[in-house]
Amino acid sequence: MARNEFNGIPVSDGLAIGMLEIIHSPRQDFNHASGNNEKEKLASAIQQSIADLQEISQLNGDSEIHAIMDLQILMLQDETFLDPIFAKISNGISALAVWEKHLDADIQEYSSSDDHYFSARASDILDIKLRVMRRLTGIAQINYSGNTILVADDLPPSAFLEIPWKTGGLVLRRGSIYGHLAVLAKSKGVPFVAGVSDLPYLEEIPVIMDANQGLVIVDPSKPELDKYKSLVQEADSLHKTKETYTWPPLNRPIQVNLNVADPSDLQTYDIRCFDGIGLVRTEFTLHAVDNFYDEQRQYVEYRKILDWANGKPVVFRLLDIGGDKPIPGLTYKEENPFLGIRGIRFLLRQRSLLEIQLRALLRASAHGDLKIMIPMVTIPEELEAVRAIVQETLRRLRDQGETCAPSPLGIMIEVPSAALLADQFEADFFSIGTNDLLQFTTACSRDSLALNDISQPDNTAFLQLLTQVVRVAERKNIAVSICGDMASDVKYVSNLLKLGISNFSVNYRAVRKVRAEMARCLS
Ligand code: PEP
Ligand code: MG
Repeated sequence: MARNEFNGIPVSDGLAIGMLEIIHSPRQDFNHASGNNEKEKLASAIQQSIADLQEISQLNGDSEIHAIMDLQILMLQDETFLDPIFAKISNGISALAVWEKHLDADIQEYSSSDDHYFSARASDILDIKLRVMRRLTGIAQINYSGNTILVADDLPPSAFLEIPWKTGGLVLRRGSIYGHLAVLAKSKGVPFVAGVSDLPYLEEIPVIMDANQGLVIVDPSKPELDKYKSLVQEADSLHKTKETYTWPPLNRPIQVNLNVADPSDLQTYDIRCFDGIGLVRTEFTLHAVDNFYDEQRQYVEYRKILDWANGKPVVFRLLDIGGDKPIPGLTYKEENPFLGIRGIRFLLRQRSLLEIQLRALLRASAHGDLKIMIPMVTIPEELEAVRAIVQETLRRLRDQGETCAPSPLGIMIEVPSAALLADQFEADFFSIGTNDLLQFTTACSRDSLALNDISQPDNTAFLQLLTQVVRVAERKNIAVSICGDMASDVKYVSNLLKLGISNFSVNYRAVRKVRAEMARCLS
């Protein structure tokens, strides 16, 4: 009998039954011109993109969205804009390469302008650039229709965010436990199994996915299907059980905060489960690119999150782009992006983006308990540079009559240098990003499943760094939290409590298990 069970690593738990659908790797066929019809391919990708934009516009009642979509459609219909691009496509040169290079140059030019109107246009060009590229490479055609188990070799976080997840799940032949895709899947409750390297390339075939065990069953038998149907039903009814929001008493004050990636998830979350929001990953919150240059849109988004938090503290992390969150045309192309110009290193080189985000955050600070956190800090001078820009931005906003609160400014501790030098940082709080701190301490990419055996959060060197940071925070009398995925993993709760951690920031699905484990350890 043919084998129908395949094993991988459970990343985000849950069960799903659906049809297998393959997401083909987007760029592999398109780096080189594949024929003589590159111009036709580009023309068709542009037409499809225009149709996409028209559809988005129709689906949205928001006049602001209409205006943006209309502007982008006009750009995609503008011959003076398109002609030079088509003129560059000749024998053997791919439409994708020409399109990317030409629009990158435009984006560079617009984004370096001091005029906010022009820098805002850069985000529109970036948006249409990516939209057309997705059409050229096929990534836009992810065939998700509810009960679908999507299979891919790997998937960029931005593509994951475009899928309107309801039911179904994700299986990757590669993937990782601590990568950003894992973060997003857990936060949205999408079952996700990684490392199923031997899954056959089959399509439109029924499949069961048991992400609790990292199991994929292709073309299941009737008894297998019946068994999993009742397990899914059981899980659903448990999920719908009325929440009580009372937690077992603990013998020491502990805060459990929420990590937010996509704010649309907040509709299904309840703030009563949390003491606040410990990490807003704004790079995902803003649905990337097109909002990065738009202060008003950011302000509106941040206010929505503050309103949802209902007076509880919210830690907004400044854009952490680069590394495994590249923004084509914006972040740098580097050989070793995890160790490159990312997080605050990027923002200090693109000050206009930093200033726009700070203006939006500081304006929003009048409407809630808002804190600002800096990602990927390595040396104290970076914090000082940001503090000076925050103060200058605050001064300008007040001169313009805005009411802004002087928000606390904290740093992520996710680079070993920052952990070792912790006492030299004049930060208002620390938050330990265990995902990155672990990868940098053990020199094992967080994207690598193969290195899991030597890169686990119980690594002694890594725990020594955590201890060092906690002791420094105690001496400085500032708060220290854990916002990396280690805090959401019940296996490590007891160790973190023993280490003196009293502030955990976790993904939504983990809160109950983490609170129960705390009660077990501390009652
Ligand atoms: C971390 O590195 O642990 C962290 C919280 O940041 P991110 O996962 O977004 O890199
Ligand atoms: Mg990080």
